[in-house]
Amino acid sequence: MYDQIREELSKTDTKLIAVSKTKSNPAILSMYEKGQLDFGENKVQELVQKFEHLPEDIHWHFIGHLQTNKVKYIAPFVHLIHSIDSFKILKEINKQAQKNDRVIDCLLQFKIAEEDSKYGLKLDEATAILTSDVYQQMQHIQIIGVMGMATFTDDTEQVRAEFQRLKIIFDQLKAQFFADVLPFQEISMGMSGDYRIAIEEGSTMVRIGTLLFGERVYT
Ligand SMILES: *Cc1c(COP(=O)(O)O)cnc(C)c1O
Repeated sequence: MYDQIREELSKTDTKLIAVSKTKSNPAILSMYEKGQLDFGENKVQELVQKFEHLPEDIHWHFIGHLQTNKVKYIAPFVHLIHSIDSFKILKEINKQAQKNDRVIDCLLQFKIAEEDSKYGLKLDEATAILTSDVYQQMQHIQIIGVMGMATFTDDTEQVRAEFQRLKIIFDQLKAQFFADVLPFQEISMGMSGDYRIAIEEGSTMVRIGTLLFGERVYT
């Protein structure tokens, strides 16, 4: 399945993030050996353990809700944090990145789904962050785009509308705050069930787990 998806994505400009949460190190390693370097995890402790045991040139993406007290564990090595859902977490990432003498790339996560259980910013919250003095003083984070999750539904038109909403938010932020910022170009959207729609709507990064590794078993 990995080769098939890689082949399909090679016709697009979309990057594949292999979502390896709950999956074993050997399973990750065998995909790494096929050339996959970008992996996504959503639990800090699990991510740190995998980082310690797997090849050091893997790019680790953090894709889950992040608690401020855990940022310090991933700050030394994380490649991209997709899930900025509050100003508080962004401030803590800036602080921990500074301690590690790094600049950490981040995506602003937006709430585009109807279900209100999903984390994410609203546009006015993002605007408040981006216009603040505190944000403008931050030297150790770089916002390179946006992330969102669509509602889990068979209604493909609803999913499409939600992805379109994220693309509009991206375009608006780009025009208003990042017009001169070249790295601001990522739209992280699309999972196993909806990645084709996401790509049609402008995704630059799809986060795929189940399709690549099989169903997750939580014990
Ligand atoms: C688990 C997860 C994915 C991957 O989901 P699949 O349906 O298994 O492809 C993508 N994004 C986030 C934020 C996730 O937590």
